[in-house]
Amino acid sequence: MKTERSEQLYKASCERMPGGVNSPVRAFYNVGRTPLFIASATGSSITDVDGNTYIDYVCSWGPGILGHAHPRVVEAVQRACADGLTYGAPTEKELTLAELVHQCMPSIEMMRMVNSGTEAVMSAIRAARGYTGRDMIVKFKGCYHGHSDGLLVKAGSASLTSAVPDSAGVPASYTENTLVALYNDEDSVRELFEKYGERIACLIVEPVAANMGVVLPKDGFLPFIRKITEQYGALLIFDEVITGFRLGLGGAQEYYGIRPDLTTLGKIVGGGMPMAVYGGRRDVMECVLPVGKVYQAGTLSGNPIATTAGIETLKILMERPSVYDEIEKKASALAEAYRSTGKVYVNQIGSLLSAFFTEKPVEDYDTAVTSDTERYSRYFTHMLENGIYVAPSQYEAMFVSAAHTEEEIAKTAEAVRAFL
Ligand SMILES: *Cc1c(COP(=O)(O)O)cnc(C)c1O
Repeated sequence: MKTERSEQLYKASCERMPGGVNSPVRAFYNVGRTPLFIASATGSSITDVDGNTYIDYVCSWGPGILGHAHPRVVEAVQRACADGLTYGAPTEKELTLAELVHQCMPSIEMMRMVNSGTEAVMSAIRAARGYTGRDMIVKFKGCYHGHSDGLLVKAGSASLTSAVPDSAGVPASYTENTLVALYNDEDSVRELFEKYGERIACLIVEPVAANMGVVLPKDGFLPFIRKITEQYGALLIFDEVITGFRLGLGGAQEYYGIRPDLTTLGKIVGGGMPMAVYGGRRDVMECVLPVGKVYQAGTLSGNPIATTAGIETLKILMERPSVYDEIEKKASALAEAYRSTGKVYVNQIGSLLSAFFTEKPVEDYDTAVTSDTERYSRYFTHMLENGIYVAPSQYEAMFVSAAHTEEEIAKTAEAVRAFL
């Protein structure tokens, strides 16, 4: 495996960008290697600047449900470019995308398009606060909702009161309204609502957690948080930035039959372009300017290029809903390969999976971090050397796309068994 060119580019990039990258996990710092600089990608494969080609299970961290450079999406985007890249004025395309989103997720009665999942979550929380006139929010330890100030907390103290920021540069006062509960632990949620219920604007959750590795909600957990939020007049926000259009066209809310008040979408909804959505109940969304008093805006929001990529991706998925069974089959074959070794604990749902290097059942953040991350790093290197690109961190999902072939799944399963 030649890595000369990646190494050169990495060294030069480190002079201009922190860690040589524009998002930290890309730097491979978790696995202590030089990141691969990518030159191109098509279908299920990705090629680096030294000419190595890999079967890709990162899929740009989620958007790539159809694989890379789907010809229909690429062609639609190319066509759209000729009409101008952005106008800062409304377009029919935004309405088309909004109708498709609403059709897939009827709980999203009204929505706004933004440019990243981070922005979607930040704005949804502002709308929830504006609507309820309350300041506090509840999030779960180990759930990721982007990098806005108030959400950069995971470590709830033992007392489960105000959270301490995870990041330098976030004033403690910015997170003092963020309460942290434990995923899959009803008591931890109940305790917070009993103590602060009248002051809580919303509870935000990844209905299937996918940012501490994939962790499934226990039976009854999602119905419980639906009920307790309602009981205290707080809004329930499903962060479906990963699960939206991934677990099915209707996302986790359809899969589990729960109707959240607000939903955030990202990744797949942009088909590989910067695009995200927040939306939900009409009465809540009508609080947003210019109808209501909650401010939110964006120069490039809903631009025609990202909108086109989103529309075309959703159309392809809607024309062929059997794709969800196909990707689920491939993912469960992979899950079975990991499980059959008896060496890892595997969580899988639809086309999302994680193999944790631990023998403990992984049900929350605390059990996820029992994983042997040093062993994960060796596994990562083994996979790379066998032409397979997986996430350079234990705490990320493995994404299976429509483009992965059965031969590629079999080859991957073989490499997994050889390592374990
Ligand atoms: C990726 C992600 C985000 C943040 O989205 P960005 O587009 O990276 O800002 C938010 N929530 C979840 C669940 C995510 O997986």
